[in-house]
Amino acid sequence: MKAITFENQQVQLKPQEAVPTCGEGEALIRVLVAGVCNTDLELIKGYMGFEGILGHEFVGVVEACSDTTWLGKRVCADINAACGVCPVCVDEKNPHHCPNRTVIGILNHGGAFAQYVKAPIVNLVAVPESVSNDRAVFTEPLAAAFEIVEQRPIHPHERVIVLGDGKLGLLIAQVLSLSTPNVTLVGRHHDKLALLRPMGVATRNSREESLDDLQKSAHVVVEVTGTAEGLDLALNLCRPRGTVVLKSTVAEGKPLNLAPLVIDEITLLGSRCGPFERTMQALEAGKLQPEVLIQHRFPLEKGVEAIEQAAQKGTLKVLIECG
Ligand SMILES: [Zn+2]
Repeated sequence: MKAITFENQQVQLKPQEAVPTCGEGEALIRVLVAGVCNTDLELIKGYMGFEGILGHEFVGVVEACSDTTWLGKRVCADINAACGVCPVCVDEKNPHHCPNRTVIGILNHGGAFAQYVKAPIVNLVAVPESVSNDRAVFTEPLAAAFEIVEQRPIHPHERVIVLGDGKLGLLIAQVLSLSTPNVTLVGRHHDKLALLRPMGVATRNSREESLDDLQKSAHVVVEVTGTAEGLDLALNLCRPRGTVVLKSTVAEGKPLNLAPLVIDEITLLGSRCGPFERTMQALEAGKLQPEVLIQHRFPLEKGVEAIEQAAQKGTLKVLIECG
């Protein structure tokens, strides 16, 4: 099986001797399309100490499975493979936080930049026929966006600001627009901001415009820049008793002034992976257009180039066509 691996500090196309072996409760998925995520680029810089097959955003077809009802179905899969037996899994029903979890393409679990990937059957979500591969491949990052409204429901009268016009920021602004018409995306790139304006998202270019009028205006501010400055700005734009959501795992370790949190009674909310079912329903309803982010496609054989392209500053989504 062909696969793109990260081993000994090197990304390479490295043939594997065999496809992943599936135990009871697991499915073998033939990967159709996978997406390169910023997390992949972070892993290559040493994040999580990961070694193995990269890739966690994907859509594929179930090729082997102990539950035969899944055979031949087009699926996406939640990337957190929980143990299913610990107190966090059983009592708290919180598999995303299972301390024994593996994470597809991120933690002790082979990824999807390959011809085949395995996933627990309980993680599978069927892709409806009306949802194209180009949309379905965004299910994982869109689910991460939906996690925000799972944690902190947003009402139609509320004002939301999303800071950061990278891939995840663009998806989050789309998803939050389903809850309120008052979403403003703040970024630094004309072309990226322009992608969301047809979807009714207001945009501001922080390179060119003052944001003074937005100070203390938002009920919810989502920080997706991953910078200390972004968090400072988020605290600035958040209303008293509002919520600042941290949606980036690459925030720098700079000192922060946390006094505004106390004075304005701001809730700081960390947010990671989200609900696949809810996301797939929104995709099926045609409410989201994640495919506007797609800029490049590479076959699996050129997966190394795909990742190099994704690492170029300003690149939005790069897809790897695996099958
Ligand atoms: Zn567990």
